[in-house]
Amino acid sequence: THFGFETVAETQKEAKVGAVFSSVASSYDTMNDLMSLGVHRLWKDYFVRSLNPGSRTSETGWNILDVAGGTGDIAFRMLDHATNVNGDLKTKVTVSDINNDMLAEGRKRALETPYGNTDRLAFMQGNAESMPSLDSNSFDLYTVSFGIRNFTNKSAAIHEAYRILKPGGVFAVLEFSHVNSALFNAVYKRWSFGAIPLIGQLVAGDRDSYQYLVESIEQHPSQEEFRDMIRDAGFITPGVGYENLTGGIASIHRGVKP
Ligand code: SAM
Repeated sequence: THFGFETVAETQKEAKVGAVFSSVASSYDTMNDLMSLGVHRLWKDYFVRSLNPGSRTSETGWNILDVAGGTGDIAFRMLDHATNVNGDLKTKVTVSDINNDMLAEGRKRALETPYGNTDRLAFMQGNAESMPSLDSNSFDLYTVSFGIRNFTNKSAAIHEAYRILKPGGVFAVLEFSHVNSALFNAVYKRWSFGAIPLIGQLVAGDRDSYQYLVESIEQHPSQEEFRDMIRDAGFITPGVGYENLTGGIASIHRGVKP
């Protein structure tokens, strides 16, 4: 709110999101695979490839913040890309997430990667809407993948991204979005509202969390509305400002800090 107090609805949303992700942390990948028929992996690969981390070689590599990075999915991909595609051994990723159970899962998985105990990977707990421990103008790239639709105040998070990015730094969002064809949308809605909560119940024993995830997709702003929020925070959004993936089931938004 304008007065810095959270409304009851906001507090409830935060508590709900916390409970959902604590509940799904361990079954998170299996569920993602089932829900998206494995396609989330292809979207994530494409997202990282298109950002090409580590490509502008500098003395220090890129300083990257992966927000709502939970289990480390995007962070590990970015470090693999910097290392294997660009031969860059200096790029660093800080994974931040509001939920300690998701971070614990990420820390555990990090030990199975080459980056586990190196200074190229760090984890921090924090709410994306306000990250006072991070300096202004300090990151080259800010990523958030399948996280921002859960934030209570998305606009606050976008402004915070703007603050901590360096001039020339890139804000990049991969998120579920809105399907643009009526026919495809009808099929997709049957899948998401019919099958996903059922799969959640059968695989994770948790219908409610998956019902919440489906509803949060429905409530997320359209591609154009979301692009305008990014522009309003001061970012330059090249071209139409977004790219649809799989007919708009997901989309990528990018903004550059001038
Ligand atoms: N980035 C990962 C991926 O692409 O698979 C994880 C996405 S997961 C669906 C969403 C994450 O957002 C959860 O780990 C949750 O804890 C986190 N989250 C929700 N609200 C947040 C907030 N306000 N600030 C930071 N993280 C938040």
